[in-house]
Amino acid sequence: MKRENEPAAINKAQIDVEYLILGQGLCGTFLSYYLKKENRSFLVIDNNDDAAPSKIAAGIINPVTGRRMVTTWMIEELLPFVWHAYTQIGQLLDITAISQRNIIDFFPSPQMLEAFRKRIQESAPYLYSFPEQNHFNNLFQYDFGCGEIRPVYTAHTERLLPAWRQLLKNDECLLEEDFDHNHLRVKEDKIEYKGIRADKIIFCDGVNGFVNPYFRLLPFAPNKGEALIVQIPDLPDQFIYKKGMLLTPLQEKDVFWIGSSYEWNFTDANPTRKFLDSTQHLLKEWLKIPFKILDHKAGIRPATLERRPFAGIHPFHRRVGILNGMGTKGCSLAPFFAKQLVDHLLYQEPLQADADISRYHKILARN
Ligand SMILES: Cc1cc2nc3c(=O)[nH]c(=O)nc-3n(C[C@H](O)[C@H](O)[C@H](O)COP(=O)(O)OP(=O)(O)OC[C@H]3O[C@@H](n4cnc5c(N)ncnc54)[C@H](O)[C@@H]3O)c2cc1C
Repeated sequence: MKRENEPAAINKAQIDVEYLILGQGLCGTFLSYYLKKENRSFLVIDNNDDAAPSKIAAGIINPVTGRRMVTTWMIEELLPFVWHAYTQIGQLLDITAISQRNIIDFFPSPQMLEAFRKRIQESAPYLYSFPEQNHFNNLFQYDFGCGEIRPVYTAHTERLLPAWRQLLKNDECLLEEDFDHNHLRVKEDKIEYKGIRADKIIFCDGVNGFVNPYFRLLPFAPNKGEALIVQIPDLPDQFIYKKGMLLTPLQEKDVFWIGSSYEWNFTDANPTRKFLDSTQHLLKEWLKIPFKILDHKAGIRPATLERRPFAGIHPFHRRVGILNGMGTKGCSLAPFFAKQLVDHLLYQEPLQADADISRYHKILARN
């Protein structure tokens, strides 16, 4: 009989698995996916937090980054990798998990138009002039023209995460509850957590990594982002539109995501009036067609000071690992480094040096 306040895991008989994974964001999803492909046993614990960034992200995989339009880190390798990874996991789940939608970049000023042209003259990859400059005249107010960024992919996280969660449930590989570090015992030959025994625990706990007893000393740099969900019935959904912010179609008809902000200084993870007002103002100035705001979301990105992920096994606790620190690029970096981590765990393949947490050997020694 279940005692009061007793979590579900305690009621289960002893569970033995090779890997215990904390978190089913993008990192935990792809880590468990690649372990499943290798026929390895695992259990995922996740509390289904609606504010997890993986549930707020637009899923955009953009080969160009920032106002200076620099080529995104590792993008040449990442684009073919993620297309294949999302297509394959989508086939397993019978969903479309990725599609291509290029960005139409509306220049907010003559300086940005000039900067874009200059980058094209420098042969910057992925940037193209857009021949039909008046094509969007009925939809948008834009005085300084537009260019095109391509190829740009969208990972359909709002479809993928619940579908993968359902598969984990069907396979009895998911515990939907809060993980409590007080119950974790890391021993020489195994780890134990409530009724679960595993060879290793891998933390894919996103922003909770900042307070994780094993990894909190890593140089995380939390970054808050906000987005609005907007209904725009007359806007075609073949493109992602950009003017300072990105306006991108979601799966549901006529529904778009617009975002996001990048805040290094913030007091809480809640949506702010300031973002709502400024984004509403932008939409009023930019769109010539009606729109209606449906929702306002905010989340904290698990970013890092060096803007590089954290992957690997703790140098002093060989049964404890991490996949985290994906920052603003989790949709492309999570699948890529999940695969690397699985190859490292199973076949001792080396991790990429600038993602491998062994680079923080000295910091982690202070634990
Ligand atoms: C507004 C916004 C827009 C973004 N847009 C993009 C984009 O377009 N493209 C892109 O590539 N990236 C984007 N990102 C970044 C991307 O969302 C993140 O890099 C990525 O989601 C991180 O995934 P994760 O699995 O590491 O962490 P998370 O998504 O945080 O997942 C961690 C999971 O662990 C669970 N968990 C943690 N602790 C516990 C616990 N103690 N017990 C139980 N469960 C626990 C959480 O509930 C969660 O489900 C965006 C982020 C934000 C905030």
